[in-house]
Amino acid sequence: MPRRKKEEQPQEEIKVIKTPPLLRGMKDVLPPEEKYWDFVEGQIKKVVRDYSFRLMRTPLLEKYELFNHTLFKQGGIVEKEIFHFIDKGEKVALRPEGTASTCRAYIDHNMDNQPQPIKLYYCGPMFRRGKVDAGKLRQFTQVGFEIIGDKSPAVDAELIIIGHYLLKNFGLDSEIRLNSIGCASCRVEYAKALGGYLKSKRGAVCLDCRKRMTRDPMKFLICKSVKCVKLKEDAPQTMDWLCDDCRNHLFKVLEYLDELKIPYKLDPTLLRTFDYYTKTVFEIHPLEKQEKKEGEDESARLSLAGGGRYDYLIQMLGGIATPAAGFTMGIERVISRMKVNKCEIPNLPAPDVFVAQISEQARQKTFSFFEALRKENFSVRANLTKGALKAQLDTAIKLGAKFVLILGQKEVIEGTVILRDMESGIQEVVNAKRVVAELKKKLKK
Ligand SMILES: [Zn+2]
Ligand SMILES: [Zn+2]
Repeated sequence: MPRRKKEEQPQEEIKVIKTPPLLRGMKDVLPPEEKYWDFVEGQIKKVVRDYSFRLMRTPLLEKYELFNHTLFKQGGIVEKEIFHFIDKGEKVALRPEGTASTCRAYIDHNMDNQPQPIKLYYCGPMFRRGKVDAGKLRQFTQVGFEIIGDKSPAVDAELIIIGHYLLKNFGLDSEIRLNSIGCASCRVEYAKALGGYLKSKRGAVCLDCRKRMTRDPMKFLICKSVKCVKLKEDAPQTMDWLCDDCRNHLFKVLEYLDELKIPYKLDPTLLRTFDYYTKTVFEIHPLEKQEKKEGEDESARLSLAGGGRYDYLIQMLGGIATPAAGFTMGIERVISRMKVNKCEIPNLPAPDVFVAQISEQARQKTFSFFEALRKENFSVRANLTKGALKAQLDTAIKLGAKFVLILGQKEVIEGTVILRDMESGIQEVVNAKRVVAELKKKLKK
């Protein structure tokens, strides 16, 4: 029987489709960005240790009602921005933020039985399917800090201070905008005054605000229609309607900031869009030093962090009334801003050793060398696929490796290895069994 030529042999058919595009508002983080993420996450780790925050990891998927009740049942803005679906009859949602989940967990795990306050942080993806035009992402990473079980203004101040210094550590100058939106009792009076003002301007108010001016006049404050924005200047301001408790609370927060000489701007129009906030609300914006550059990422202009006090949230979720405050920072926005400002990022530390190999036989040995060195806690690199020694040495130089181990066929047979000091260029032949001890000695020097 004649043998078939190779190309005629039957082959399994590989089905091909057009590469599915990335979803709108989603982003791949590629290796050149790694150093930014490493640096930012490293600074966050440092701050949470110093300020005694503990890690809280909650699921990305939660019951829809957790967000429905806390974020938009009171007429907030994000209902249409939430990714949700029915899973076997149960309505679930991808978390749009982390505070509601953190409070749900605080209640679930009876954390009110532990010494208060409970200081928690998280860092992870959040999802909102809002407009993507202004450089906003639909999946973005937030680090959040929450302090639960303490009503003192020092807590609000601590959060603002952390936000301010964290951005400073990233190399970013920022501006703090601050407001107090009062408590359940003084807000009633304020809402009445605001409603009265809107009625007196009935003709000039946008249609949406006109419809809700009696039921929910507060939404006027976050209305972005040109008509309403113009009216805001003369509108009654929350700060003038604060009760004694809320006013004293605000002044105390400001005193802490003054003490540290942290600059802030009181912004009476600032109203965080989630409905659970009380008293202090704040946002931290990048300080605009220069005009927008061509090609600059839009997201670099948005607020970098924001938060405030949310004394009713735990009660709203069925827990016992517990005061709390928190803030979040958007990591992608911070990194965009760092790139625009050309912030200096320290390079990753240079490795102690690079293991190079020549010949297939040596390559096999390299794996065990590499693992043996890793086990001894050396910072070690290798390129286990490249053959040419020159290319490997170039990589070692680029990485700034202090020593290079070179393994060839001859060395494998003799049970030795070439140890090269990259600074002096001096190289010596070392017994393979002595390599770890030899490297330890040299690195100690
Ligand atoms: Zn009040
Ligand atoms: Zn309006």
